[in-house]
Amino acid sequence: MVSLNDIRSTFLNYFEKQGHEVVPSSPLVPRNDPTLMFVNSGMVQFKNLFTGVETRDYSRATTSQKCVRAGGKHNDLDNVGYTARHHTFFEMLGNFSFGDYFKAEAIPFAYELITREFQIPSDRLYVTVYHTDDEAAQIWKKIGIPEDRIIRIATSDNFWQMGPTGPCGPCTEIFYDHGPDVWGGPPGSPEEDGDRFIEIWNVVFMQNEQFEDGSMRALDMQSIDTGMGLERIGALLQGKHDNYDTDLMRSLIEASADVTSADPDGPGKMHHRVIADHLRSTSFLIADGVMPSNDGRGYVLRRIMRRAMRHAHMLGSADPVMHRLVPALVRQMGAAYPELGRAQSLIEETLLSEETRFKQTLDRGLKLLDDELAGLPENAPLPGAAAFKLYDTYGFPLDLTQDALREKQREVDVDGFDAAMAEQKARARAAWSGSGEAADSAIWFDISEREGATDFLGYDTEKAEGQL
Ligand code: ATP
Ligand code: MG
Ligand code: MG
Ligand code: MG
Repeated sequence: MVSLNDIRSTFLNYFEKQGHEVVPSSPLVPRNDPTLMFVNSGMVQFKNLFTGVETRDYSRATTSQKCVRAGGKHNDLDNVGYTARHHTFFEMLGNFSFGDYFKAEAIPFAYELITREFQIPSDRLYVTVYHTDDEAAQIWKKIGIPEDRIIRIATSDNFWQMGPTGPCGPCTEIFYDHGPDVWGGPPGSPEEDGDRFIEIWNVVFMQNEQFEDGSMRALDMQSIDTGMGLERIGALLQGKHDNYDTDLMRSLIEASADVTSADPDGPGKMHHRVIADHLRSTSFLIADGVMPSNDGRGYVLRRIMRRAMRHAHMLGSADPVMHRLVPALVRQMGAAYPELGRAQSLIEETLLSEETRFKQTLDRGLKLLDDELAGLPENAPLPGAAAFKLYDTYGFPLDLTQDALREKQREVDVDGFDAAMAEQKARARAAWSGSGEAADSAIWFDISEREGATDFLGYDTEKAEGQL
């Protein structure tokens, strides 16, 4: 069976042969980029090359990039456990042209790699193009993709943007049809969210730059940015429909089953999937220097950790377990990412101390949640005050409460939660100014308001990203 490590090499070797510089993955925390929480795609480290701010001694590059999508424009946190194709941490394989080749070469490269190197039958492929992009549609037609499998899409799905600002452009996405046994419809159809037609590769025609005021300019040069999810192509080449059935994810799921003594394919299946996924994102984030905290990136990390810990708790584990899964991860991924091995003890210690602390309030918080729900009419949302109490007293980030409720098809009254939060801030402000330090505290609150109060920063990462 072809391994993810083999697939990564095949991809990088193919593009190296086509004159691309093999560039290492950048760390998950973007350098000098306050607009982005975590690196969410391969192009991030090359952002300034597309805009022409920076030049290097190569105009073609290829990478396997570590990505985290747990906030901001591309947030897949709520997809994990529910879809076959989303992770919070994944590896994105990419090839890049900086003012070198464009559509006419990029599409044939992708097609050749998929059908020749990976031997994927062409008749399983569907492609989308931006609705006005006749040129891309023509290139696909010439390659031999029948017209009824070239789908024009008018939404932002086919206009790629890294975040609220930065280089962007129309794109063409390549989908694989996993066959009628899996539910779902082709892109653009009402069933497109299913897992039958899975997007494996996105080829972006970088030609614009988006600014904060909403305006957009045409870039001086036309470039290429592509992204193929290693786990998705891996599933396909291993004959699986589901990313979580690949050898790598499966071994983590089995490790989770071992430490929780809960059947990997039993009723707790979804919990194991979330644990396996969150283990990867938390470990890689810690290895790249993020530590759990109450604001910014550290709070996103803490939220992911606590979500995982609740899922472990749901499987009946009385003691902390996350740290016991780290060796399995290092065994699987330590060779490709040596920073993981180097940080192993730090990751284990951090997970253990976070889980030990959170365990003290998790039980009681979940009990409070159950009691609250029991007192509510069927299907009524959880009142904001209760969600706020869980947040404030029991350390439940809002999204953790929402995640817990989703399993019961319930929701939180988010407006009520926001109001309770605002009320607490107002109370804190009043109490402070009553303490005789009014002048200083006014300054402090001004700063915290402007920079984003720490407790507000984390739970809504859209807000947080604007403030980092
Ligand atoms: P989807 O529509 O399936 O959510 P996307 O369009 O958001 O994917 P892109 O931003 O185009 O994804 O990223 C490029 C490639 O990275 C995708 O074609 C896919 O193969 C892979 N990818 C994207 N998000 C994830 C994820 N959360 N987990 C694993 N792979 C992903
Ligand atoms: Mg997506
Ligand atoms: Mg997509
Ligand atoms: Mg895409």
